[in-house]
Parts: sequence; C-alpha cells; structure tokens
Amino acid sequence: MKMLAIESTCDETAAAVVENFGEGVRVINSVVASSVEMHEKYGGIVPEVAAREQIKSIIPVITEAMNGENIDAVAVSYGPGLMGSLLVGVESAKVLAWVWKKPLLKVNHMAAHVMANWIVEKTQKIENSKTQSTGVPKLPAVGLVVSGGHTDLILMESLTKWTWIGGTRDDAAGEAFDKAARILGLPYPGGPEIDRAANKVTNEEWDKYKNLFKLPRPLIHDPRLEMSFSGIKAAVARMVENRSQFSEANPQISEESFRNLVAREFSQAVSEVLVKKTMLAVEQFKPKSVLLAGGVAANKKLRETLRQEIAMAGLSFFVPELKYCGDNAAMVGASALLRPEESEMDLRPDPSLAVV
Ligand code: AMP
Ligand code: MG
Repeated sequence: MKMLAIESTCDETAAAVVENFGEGVRVINSVVASSVEMHEKYGGIVPEVAAREQIKSIIPVITEAMNGENIDAVAVSYGPGLMGSLLVGVESAKVLAWVWKKPLLKVNHMAAHVMANWIVEKTQKIENSKTQSTGVPKLPAVGLVVSGGHTDLILMESLTKWTWIGGTRDDAAGEAFDKAARILGLPYPGGPEIDRAANKVTNEEWDKYKNLFKLPRPLIHDPRLEMSFSGIKAAVARMVENRSQFSEANPQISEESFRNLVAREFSQAVSEVLVKKTMLAVEQFKPKSVLLAGGVAANKKLRETLRQEIAMAGLSFFVPELKYCGDNAAMVGASALLRPEESEMDLRPDPSLAVV
C-alpha cells in the first residue's frame, strides 16, 4: 500500500509518500520545510507565524512529495501540536482524501515519532539483500520518546497495545535544552546548539575542568520512572549568573569555553537521567528492544550512552536516522501503514493528544 502522509503539528510542514516493505516501511519521497529561522529571533516558536508559514508551504511540499506517484490513502498528524498549525495539515488531508476518494487515516504525532523506528532506509542495500531482512524492532519494546513538548517512557507489547509507564513531571527534555540554550545565549532551537557546543570540548579539557561544572541529576536515585528537568535548567541559570566570580577565579577559561563546558555538562546530566530511567524500565519490563525517538534522539551523547547501556544488557537498540528524528511526514506514513486508524471526513485536530 502506498500512502501520502502529511505533518504540520508545529513549525515543520512535511509530506511524504511511503509504502510497506517487509515488516517495515520504505520511504519513496520525503519533503520537509521548516519555519525555524523565523522563530530564531524570538527565541522560540510564535504560533501565529508558524501557522502562516504552514499555509504558504503546504501545497508546494505536498506537490513535491507526490511527484506523480499514485497513492492508496492519505494520512495526517492530528495532534498533539499547535492548533493553527495542525489545522493546515488536517484540512489539506481531508480535501485531498475527499477529492481523490481515498481513505483518510489519522495519526498521533508522538506515536509517529516512535514508528520512525520502522522506517527501513538505505533502499539500495535492502534491494540488494538476499534475505530481504528489514530489521524492524522486536516486541515487546520499551520506547523513550523525547521531544520539544514531551518526555515519555512507553511499553509496547504489540504495534497497537501501548502503555504509558513514566515521564517528566515538569519540563520536557527538549524544552530544557531550548531553555538552557537561551540562558547560555545560544540561538533557538537550543538542542542542536548545545549538542554542537558540547562536542567542541576536548576530553583533555573536560577532565581538567569537569569538577567546576557540576549540575544536578534530579530524581536519578528515585526508583520510580519519573523524571524532572526544570532543576537542571535552573542550575544552569545560577552558573551563568555567577559567571563573573567564576572568571575571576578561573581567568584561563574563555567565555566560549565556559559555554561549551556548561553545554557538555548539561547534555551529560540530561542524558544520564534519561538513560538511568530507561534502564530501570528495562529491568522492570524485560523487553526485547529499546527504541529512542523524537527530536532529542538526535543528541549525540544520548544516542551513544543509551546504545552502550542497551548493548551491555544484551538487547537491541533502535534510533531513527537523524533526518527522521525531528518532525517529518515519513514517520506519519509509517504509523498509518503499520497501526492504521481510519478517520471520518470530519476529523478535527486534537492539540493535547497524549502518546497513548
Ligand atoms: P520535536 O519536538 O520532536 O520536533 O523535537 C524538537 C526538540 O528537539 C527541540 O526541543 C530541540 O531543541 C530538540 N533537539 C533537536 N536536536 C537536538 C540535539 N541534537 N540534542 C538535543 N536536543 C535536540
Ligand atoms: Mg515532534
């Protein structure tokens, strides 16, 4: 089955054509347009601006993704997200499904992030493979979904039976990255900026100075699958406030090095909490695989530490390719093909939809 999928929950306008491939999904075309530069100067997303940009981009993006393909159904993310942005995708999908007389499928955007792990990439390699093995995750799996608005641990017993098992009690991990970046004077979106700054610190420099940059790891010794990130961000704010005293005592650390070192410790603190809680979930639920998903899954430290821990536990670890970690429509198509939910033609966006 070939699916046109549309994604417009926040500041990305995306469309993709995908199809079933073995137990996974193959991407035929995937197009993403972002209005992120327009939000940079405000240090965050301005919903009105995002929605207006969605309207401008949606038709060119869908046209480019379709590229003459014949599709069997239309899928769209209907929440969670910003109402104005969601409306653009949902109304476009409804019109296309109605005009083309194709089924309309509704997709939970957070579930779609998880289903990005079923995207079988490197088409070339797979086509040449004798076994046609698509290497999709084995279930039951524990999923860690980390994005700008959500941080959830879920237990996936089958493609459709998911249970929420834990998450953050305050800021989402991505939100903490964005806020910490703002405090450090780095542009929006902060996650990639902090990641980049953190990776500029050499191991030698880190070993020398790490004791000067200790941030808390809230709830890390708590046995519940509950997380908290607002305290780490507040501690970054205190470090920055005390910067002049710090410089007097450590004149050899330049302003840029200071920022990079804080970024490294911040990435490390957030990753340690996320990894610890995921490993607690692994002990408790004994899954066959662990899946990482959402925009923060692009974080180098997090991907590496989790991969190592999961390998040591003898389980398989899955994380989408970088281009399918952030918002995109290929993941929406993957979700619609593998856990289809047909919708009536009067579909309405649901801005506060939960992952399960
Ligand atoms: P999403 O909500 O899934 O679109 O993801 C967006 C969030 O992911 C934003 O909060 C970004 O700051 C965050 N993000 C993107 N790339 C990275 C990265 N490399 N490290 C940490 N956070 C990131
Ligand atoms: Mg997202």
